[in-house]
Amino acid sequence: MSEEQQAHANLVVPAFRTEEEPKTQTQTQNGHGTVWRFGGSDKAAKASTVTLRGVIYMLFDNCSKDVKKTILPLGHGDPSVYPCFRTCIDAEDAVVDVLRSGKGNSYGPGAGILPARRAVADYLNRDLPSKLTPDDIFLTAGCNQGIEIVFESLARPNANILLPRPGFPHYDARAAYSGLEIRKFDLLPNQEWEIDLQGVEAIADENTVALVVINPNNPCGNVYSHDHLRKVAETARKLGIMVITDEVYDQTIFGDNPFVPMGKFASIVPVMTLGGISKGWVVPGWKIGWIALNDPEGVLESTKVVQSIKQNLDITPDPSTIIQAALPTILEKADKKFFAKKNKILRHNVDLVCDRLKDIPCVVCPKKPESCTYLLTKLELSLLENIKDDTDFCVKLAREENLVFLPGKPIEIKIHMNLVI
Ligand SMILES: *Cc1c(COP(=O)(O)O)cnc(C)c1O
Repeated sequence: MSEEQQAHANLVVPAFRTEEEPKTQTQTQNGHGTVWRFGGSDKAAKASTVTLRGVIYMLFDNCSKDVKKTILPLGHGDPSVYPCFRTCIDAEDAVVDVLRSGKGNSYGPGAGILPARRAVADYLNRDLPSKLTPDDIFLTAGCNQGIEIVFESLARPNANILLPRPGFPHYDARAAYSGLEIRKFDLLPNQEWEIDLQGVEAIADENTVALVVINPNNPCGNVYSHDHLRKVAETARKLGIMVITDEVYDQTIFGDNPFVPMGKFASIVPVMTLGGISKGWVVPGWKIGWIALNDPEGVLESTKVVQSIKQNLDITPDPSTIIQAALPTILEKADKKFFAKKNKILRHNVDLVCDRLKDIPCVVCPKKPESCTYLLTKLELSLLENIKDDTDFCVKLAREENLVFLPGKPIEIKIHMNLVI
């Protein structure tokens, strides 16, 4: 890492970068004639080509001291670095209390400690017709580990999985790592970023295992309607596949469309809900998330998916017991005022940026986001001179203005740019 990169190490989004192919080094001879018989494995080489970190670092590298402007890092997705988004005091107190009590010092069971699993079930049950029990909940080290565990549990030879485009790159990385074949369906920009369900049916086959929904949607910033989610469930049922829904942004909504959990449709199709407190409570560093199995008919049990999840959890590290033990208080005291304040700031920022963008004809916001922390914009290349594509534009912005935005390429949307709000 360069000095510049180090200074911004905390401002970086989760992992896209094409690293050079690591050289497989099975035998290296040193000066004393010893033959080293070890070398780095390339198991993660393919998967790690889909991470955001590299792009952001590359853009920071293009920023310059000669440009007499402070670096504005607006490509990263971690609002916790800004004091105005500091998490609520109740959540902090909950962690401090557990720490001081000495009750968070032990190992926990693979699935997570019971009070925490019960608290997650209660938290999710507020909006669900068929209720979850603590047995339906598995705690993970952030929502990302939920993705990893679920993919490992579904990865059988020849299996394929349907992912949204644009999307969240960690899904691509982990599907590749687990050996799941990736098939992409489109989100439709002219239909409120709804899922192209005809496209889903066209790409699914007898080896398809699941469809991934991200709702509220990162990076598009929409919130899906009840009707659309019901159609998604019906399509999945017709295809005989489950729905994996990523609801990590359930508390980051500042538009008018209400959030509907996919679990509502579990009587139609089995639903695995991924969530966590990273985004809602703005504490991604606390590393706690969950997998919830919305499956009243017991399909995930009879197909042995539950068994596989438990086995995978048994061989992976658990989230810190301190945070697990604090989770019931964090969720029960879910501070409505804190969420309201946070979402008000986000809405204000979106309004402000959209307003200013009206004066910049080459950067267009096709749809105002109503959730999450990005504003997806389209570049009008015809109005720009000497700009090849979105990456080229972002590199030149970094070089000439010390302004860092995320190009659309890593999230698979052409000629777009993502601004952090
Ligand atoms: C940030 C994010 C995650 C990862 O959440 P962690 O709890 O930090 O692991 C997963 N999915 C989406 C869509 C995200 O934006």
